[in-house]
Amino acid sequence: MAKVTLKDIAHSYTGYSENPDDYALKSLDLTWRDGGAYALLGPSGCGKTTLLNIISGLLIPTKGQVLFNDQDVTRLPTEHRNIAQIFQFPVIYDTMTVFENLAFPLKNRGRTKTEIEPRVIEIARMLGLETNLYTKAQHLTADAKQKISLGRGLIRQSVNAILFDEPLTVIDPQLKWELRSQLKYLHKQFGFTMIYVTHDQTEALTFADEVIVMYEGEIVQVGTPEALFERPEHTFVGYFIGSPGMNIAPCNIQGDKAIIDGHEIALTRDYHAIPAGAKIEMGIRPEYLRLNPPGGAGLPVSIKKVDDIGRYKIVRVGLNTREFNVVVPELSGMTGDKASLAFDIEHTNIYVNDHLFSGEQQ
Ligand code: ADP
Ligand code: MG
Repeated sequence: MAKVTLKDIAHSYTGYSENPDDYALKSLDLTWRDGGAYALLGPSGCGKTTLLNIISGLLIPTKGQVLFNDQDVTRLPTEHRNIAQIFQFPVIYDTMTVFENLAFPLKNRGRTKTEIEPRVIEIARMLGLETNLYTKAQHLTADAKQKISLGRGLIRQSVNAILFDEPLTVIDPQLKWELRSQLKYLHKQFGFTMIYVTHDQTEALTFADEVIVMYEGEIVQVGTPEALFERPEHTFVGYFIGSPGMNIAPCNIQGDKAIIDGHEIALTRDYHAIPAGAKIEMGIRPEYLRLNPPGGAGLPVSIKKVDDIGRYKIVRVGLNTREFNVVVPELSGMTGDKASLAFDIEHTNIYVNDHLFSGEQQ
């Protein structure tokens, strides 16, 4: 297993260019710890597969270096990198049995039958394939075929890293849950360096110790699931993580107050260092807003819509031209469509040109 370092990596599919818009990956610096469980999370087209392919050697980056344990492998072919990569769709041999498919990566590297057999059985059992070991892959369902793909990726114990590129796309939702927790268990047991690519926040947050959020070819935050929720460093992270995502509203800062559509919200930090002319926004998660009865603490809002989703309600409120989502356990003590919207100031973030602006302690 290895520590993987990306040094100032950029990639343009049309070759070297002076124009940043030509780059699918803009400029990435990142170290993946030996034995870490990472998720790479971002919307379709943000560069996740490009990044994985640079790590595995399917692509040579336009700029920068890839290091495995401090050894430069940027130009080393895939087969010499000792990486297992699992793709979105099954990559297996249809005419081979499940056993033969799983055994293949080991057989290929000259392992003996006595080494191969117990390992194949162990992996098959873990993935729930043990009853089909001697069935030809072509007779199996799409789910089972993708399990074989996963198994082929997991079978070698000496790989530098295992890369998963949205591997559960074709898997049935119920099974998805099961497989994800098995992967996590496997990580704990064997300590592989794992990088798991997904556009699904639930998958990322349940699998990984650390999540790398990408947006338009750049890394916008690296953090624990908790940090991404509590302190989004970029408006995109706020919006993309959480359900519903963070409320983001344009505002002005005057002294120690934020002004949204003519309404004042008192802040606890000092923001005088914000450069003139910058785009300023306030971000607050729906979980950190409260609704009080009309006339109570907070700003006067009208209730536009209430979605009851079981354990809690999502209330959409209007403050002049702005709308906010509020998560509340109950809509108690409220009649009519008026309410007061109260902000938890400790969880009210100010963003300058989309980046979190911490301000100074007053
Ligand atoms: P993701 O995996 O996050 O969906 P990709 O890494 O596949 O994103 O793509 C990032 C960007 O690079 C996209 O704009 C995509 O259109 C472009 N791209 C991907 N593969 C190629 C290719 N082989 N040739 C040209 N452009 C590509
Ligand atoms: Mg992709």
